[in-house]
Amino acid sequence: MKIPKSFQVLDHNIKVEFVDELVNQPDDEEAVVLGEALYLQQKIHILKENPEQHSRTFWHETVHHILHVLGYHELNDSEQLIDQLGRCLNQVYCTMDYGNKKS
Ligand SMILES: [Zn+2]
Repeated sequence: MKIPKSFQVLDHNIKVEFVDELVNQPDDEEAVVLGEALYLQQKIHILKENPEQHSRTFWHETVHHILHVLGYHELNDSEQLIDQLGRCLNQVYCTMDYGNKKS
């Protein structure tokens, strides 16, 4: 999927940037982290490496921003929930069928 340069969540304008290194390193050194949501800066960083993971990472960080904007800070710490919601949104987006395919 094509990753946007920016998008809006309510009154927040979130910018998306591809980076070589993340600002924040994970607490858990074994965690596989491919992106980050920077709330104050209203940004998503996605590591340039692993391009096959870009869309999954985009949706994961987007869910973080949505929960942050809506004030669900406790839920926002649940990486498993975030990952599952992100995967589902990615699937919804990638499988949208408007019924106008030529067969
Ligand atoms: Zn996360």
